[in-house]
Amino acid sequence: MSESFAGVGVSAGRVIGPVRRMPDPIIAPADGAPLPAGVSIEEESARLAQATAAVAAGLKERSAAATGDAAAVLKATALMASDRTLLKSATKLVASGTNAESAIWEAAEAVAMQLTGLGGYMAERATDVLDVRSRIVAQLRGVPAPGIPDSDEPFVLCAVDLAPADTATLDPARVLALVTSDGGPQSHTAIIARSLGLPAIVAASGTTVLSDGDILFVDGIDGTVVRAPGAEEEALAQAYASRVALPEFSGSGALKDGYAVPLLANVGSGSDAQAAAAAGAQGVGLLRTEFCFLGRDTEPSHEEQVSAYKAVFDAFGGSKVVVRTLDAGADKPLPFLTDDSEPNPALGVRGYRTDGSVPGVLDRQLKAIAQAANGSDADVWTMAPMISTPAEAAAFAAMCKDAGLKTPGVMVEVPSAALLARQVCAEVDFASIGTNDLTQYTMAADRQLGALAALNDPWQPAVLHLIKATCDGGAAVESGPRPVGVCGEAAADPALAVVLVGLGVATLSMNRRALPAVAAILKTVDLPGAQRIAQLALNAASADDARNAVRNELPELDIFGL
Ligand code: PEP
Ligand code: MG
Repeated sequence: MSESFAGVGVSAGRVIGPVRRMPDPIIAPADGAPLPAGVSIEEESARLAQATAAVAAGLKERSAAATGDAAAVLKATALMASDRTLLKSATKLVASGTNAESAIWEAAEAVAMQLTGLGGYMAERATDVLDVRSRIVAQLRGVPAPGIPDSDEPFVLCAVDLAPADTATLDPARVLALVTSDGGPQSHTAIIARSLGLPAIVAASGTTVLSDGDILFVDGIDGTVVRAPGAEEEALAQAYASRVALPEFSGSGALKDGYAVPLLANVGSGSDAQAAAAAGAQGVGLLRTEFCFLGRDTEPSHEEQVSAYKAVFDAFGGSKVVVRTLDAGADKPLPFLTDDSEPNPALGVRGYRTDGSVPGVLDRQLKAIAQAANGSDADVWTMAPMISTPAEAAAFAAMCKDAGLKTPGVMVEVPSAALLARQVCAEVDFASIGTNDLTQYTMAADRQLGALAALNDPWQPAVLHLIKATCDGGAAVESGPRPVGVCGEAAADPALAVVLVGLGVATLSMNRRALPAVAAILKTVDLPGAQRIAQLALNAASADDARNAVRNELPELDIFGL
């Protein structure tokens, strides 16, 4: 008998395949636990050596079979597992009466701490040591190794949620789809699934009961998981398998009638920007500068900042690059800027607001952006995150002017800025809507909470009304209309992209991998058509109704399997 589970579809596609569950994380053994009764030091040392050798051999074999990033990650881990010093120090602990699990745990801890102390590249290797340690302990316990399961047969990966490190070895040729019981539409799982083009569903509650070998139908379009699928699901999966391949992005986004909708990329570094330029992006709509600062205890120097920004500008000479100033706080804490004891960090001193609590950092960042801009031919625009009032917009514009930056703008992420868009936009040259945050603040639903994923949906009609209010406000500025773009994840959803253009959004900025799908669907409607479709979404009473009403108008979504 079929059984259904409802979640939130975050990456389109319909597939059927067997379940492989993400193994449970390895729990630490008790500190200095003694040898098991009746087991000699020699026997325990031999058991440890065998487990270590088995882990090293397994990793070596997998790294030889893998390619790209996954091969590099596996090779580094295999090298670490073959390292004699780790085994030697663990064996010494066994000789002093500690059991194998505790010995390897403790020995690896010491090595990881040493590596961390060395900093830089060596500190990054500490993660490999800890990964190897978990694998050896799993081997000793006879339980599955942590990380993405190994399987010759393609499978649907089911997990509570995935950590960034898990996804590094995720091979889209073996993983058919992702299903998580936790996580939201902005979770790491959702972002990685979209970037790999894998069907994915998050916040699918109840799916923790699924076990290895269960056969699942995963519908990443409407967010349904079906155990033991029947003929209807078979037909849907088959239709998806025979979808028409998406044409490559031509490098010029437009509707059917030629109405231009520039398609830009969201990037976090120079190498990201190069990949986006190669994918045809018409510029950068969001440079998340905090990515140059994350993991830092201190503010990066002027030179470091100039070179990080210039690397992005150089990839887009002659095109527009929108730089967002530091967005620290909430899910992106920075020790030198944010207060981690705030009771409610998403509503706290974050984004532009940190200029009030730690003055100087923003001024210095603007100067670095200006210097990098002067040394390049990119058309550099600069915007601040989390602007809530016209006064903040005016203050930011003045700071940009002082730094020598000519095109200041704001992100509209807080409902107050959307409602007062005319007054806010009057202070600056443009606005860009951050739909991830605008959704969380409109719906009062923490974007990191899987339990609230259904509320955290940019298809919520209330969010769409605020997007319209922002576009209308930008168009109504007395001194001349201000362009309004979107740079949140909503822009990467091809059906929603049509709605956004119909609401008056001028440019869309997204993960570069979404460009072909968004471009292909925009090409199927003209401007009056997009406006009519947007009205259907505005009139809906729920996110699902809005999505369904719009999808019915866009048959090409099914043709392309989107
Ligand atoms: C957003 O909020 O939509 C956005 C683009 O910013 P971030 O996701 O980095 O908060
Ligand atoms: Mg944001």
